[in-house]
Amino acid sequence: MDFDDTPEQARLRAEVRAFLSENADALAHGDGAYLEEPGTERLEHLRDTQAMLYDAGMIGLTWPVEYGGGGGSNAQQAVVNEELHRARVAGPVGHVGLGMCGPTVLHHGSEDQKQRYIRRLLRADDIWCQLFSEPGSGSDLAALRTKAVLQDDGWHVQGQKVWTTLAQHSRYGILLARTDPDAPKHKGLTMFVIDMHSPGVMVRPLKQMNGHESFNEVFLDDVVIPDSERLGAVNDGWRVALTTLMNERMAVGGGGGEIGVRSDALLAHAAERLPQLPEQNRVLATEALGRVLTESLAARYTGYRLQTALEKGVEPGPEGSAGKLSAVRVAHATADLGVRLLGDDAVFARSREGDWRWATSQASTPGIALAGGTDEILRNIIGERVLGLPSDRAAARPSPTAQNR
Ligand SMILES: Cc1cc2nc3c(=O)[nH]c(=O)nc-3n(C[C@H](O)[C@H](O)[C@H](O)COP(=O)(O)OP(=O)(O)OC[C@H]3O[C@@H](n4cnc5c(N)ncnc54)[C@H](O)[C@@H]3O)c2cc1C
Repeated sequence: MDFDDTPEQARLRAEVRAFLSENADALAHGDGAYLEEPGTERLEHLRDTQAMLYDAGMIGLTWPVEYGGGGGSNAQQAVVNEELHRARVAGPVGHVGLGMCGPTVLHHGSEDQKQRYIRRLLRADDIWCQLFSEPGSGSDLAALRTKAVLQDDGWHVQGQKVWTTLAQHSRYGILLARTDPDAPKHKGLTMFVIDMHSPGVMVRPLKQMNGHESFNEVFLDDVVIPDSERLGAVNDGWRVALTTLMNERMAVGGGGGEIGVRSDALLAHAAERLPQLPEQNRVLATEALGRVLTESLAARYTGYRLQTALEKGVEPGPEGSAGKLSAVRVAHATADLGVRLLGDDAVFARSREGDWRWATSQASTPGIALAGGTDEILRNIIGERVLGLPSDRAAARPSPTAQNR
């Protein structure tokens, strides 16, 4: 990637910067020390922010024009993202739709589905969720048991999903269900778009150790989905799911961006806190700061390299897994150092606004190491597909092996 703006990119950057400054009061912002979850009181503000950015052409910039996108390039989107990041605009509330569900509908949906769903998803008029994981199937996703049976009025769905991010705020979701129980486990699955307001859908939020309720249990009791809401062919859901998962890893780590906690916020925090630490701790903390900032830069430039490759038409592969691994590692190290810089005050972090945010982020980063494929699963992928090591499945194991979702 060439780091100097072309004249066209410089013009775009100036326009975006002017827009973000003129509309600063209306847009939702984050402080960079904090992995934000949309609590209900902030939800509408975040939705309005996403809609404003969409209307200004900053969201969905690379998506096809015929479905409401901007038809632009990854390089243009990168310029916009940098400016959103610089202005500390809050991340899009519809991130599951933008990162996972939308690309899946675009790739596998019918013309009618794309026309009905994509524009509203980009604007956060509808929030989306991803209903894949179940109590007995996470890494081994293809072992899932929620079943869908075709009857005269559509597919009747019975089962339970878990860890479904944003389900409590969602209008639609993409749902992976078993449609042929007799086929090998990867072959008997089908993907659907589910209306989360359908009779028989019950959503129960789960409380996490960071105090948030960002994901949910979802119970599906004889929910009827019309056949027209199928995504892809019957029993071809595994192929559709791979599109979602590849996009998920790209969304988390592929762009070289930072996940919630930001290195510039850490730097500002360090400038304030380092002078207050005892000499020996200060030396150690400064070294740790250097390491975190270096890793953060490395993750960003690796992301840029991937974006450049995608721009040239290369299909995303295991790079998404590597990008997610390093983005999560950096987020964890950033949040962790943010807390360590508090020194003894970390004990009281819950009672002070700024400090509390670092503590909350520290409690949130283990979760992002699991979502979209755990670190171990991603390392399996890199081991097999990049380093050419023997398959995880070939290893002798006492229990059924994970399929590396
Ligand atoms: C913040 C968050 C948001 C999420 N959002 C969603 C969502 O919106 N929709 C959704 O469907 N799911 C979501 N998930 C679920 C997520 O995809 C699963 O947690 C993840 O796939 C791991 O599955 P599991 O929790 O069942 O753990 P398991 O698969 O039971 O794994 C347990 C442990 O065993 C290890 N392990 C498993 N198999 C192997 C193997 N073959 N080799 C080496 N180690 C292995 C894992 O790495 C892990 O450490 C979310 C999770 C989190 C934490």
